Amino acid sequence: MASQLLKTDFEWPVPRAGFAWVDLPVPAAAKQSRSTGQAVNLESLREPYLVPIVPPGALAGDQNYRPLDRTGLFRILADTPATQEGILEFAKEFGRLGGSVTASNSPPPSANPHFWWHSESLSSWRSEIEQMKEAVGLWDLCRAGDRKALSDLIHWEPHFLCYVPPKSQFRTTVQNLVIASEDSLGDPIGDYDRGDVVIPAWKALLWIVNCKLNQHPAPRQLLWDRRTLRPISQLVPSSLISAMWIQLAQAITENKNYDQCHQCGLWFEVAAEKRKDAKFCSNACRFKAYRERQKLAKRLHAEGMVLVQIASKLGSDVETVKGWVK
Ligand SMILES: [Zn+2]
Repeated sequence: MASQLLKTDFEWPVPRAGFAWVDLPVPAAAKQSRSTGQAVNLESLREPYLVPIVPPGALAGDQNYRPLDRTGLFRILADTPATQEGILEFAKEFGRLGGSVTASNSPPPSANPHFWWHSESLSSWRSEIEQMKEAVGLWDLCRAGDRKALSDLIHWEPHFLCYVPPKSQFRTTVQNLVIASEDSLGDPIGDYDRGDVVIPAWKALLWIVNCKLNQHPAPRQLLWDRRTLRPISQLVPSSLISAMWIQLAQAITENKNYDQCHQCGLWFEVAAEKRKDAKFCSNACRFKAYRERQKLAKRLHAEGMVLVQIASKLGSDVETVKGWVK
């Protein structure tokens, strides 16, 4: 059972007052010029940081929720536009990413300390979105066995075989991953059928996911199971971003399917046996959609449309529509 493996009631905070983008100095560790190793002008390096809004005089007002109840959360992140507005929308709903994405700066004396405790830079959000997009895209191609698209990513060279990620303006997981070679780099090249791109792509995907799971770990811990009154061993996400990567890892091993909710547009897991009739991510969305159809039927009826037409427009039957417009 999946729930035995992963702590699905893992909770994460969302600040009640939301988030804002604030220009902050880049942390000291990042202020050394990469190429020369020399310190650069501190004030010149500023970047937008996502910070929780703390209303004056208020204690940090967080509301906890269970991220893993959103069965397709990793796909929602992969679909998030890597813009300040897109990231703000995601964070307002699901909170910060946490883990190593959260900056650990020491605040200047005048600053509200919350800005530093939980601030996350725009560039790290962009990388995380891009890397999730890369992994989900690669998984979709692997599952579809899309040789044409995969041959853009998997390169067979005379002496080695490598994965080259799609071009991106943001940081991808890896620049160039050698999957197999004639020497000690990667697997022995003889393990692969020359020209095959599908199995090498799966290997690249596993490498990416493992790399991200190392970066954002979900350590196995012993927990008390209140149902059975016994200790159990589960993977416990250390942050929201780790919860999303472990969710993807589980989706890959269990070959899960996803669809977008017809009401809110967010991704959710569709169980194989419910493939056809699962349109909504939750009962709340199903009910909202139902109410909206009812309202639309009433409006069309008031505008003079006949019941048969309304029924066909809404994909319903005349009897049902008659009940709605009464
Ligand atoms: Zn929905």
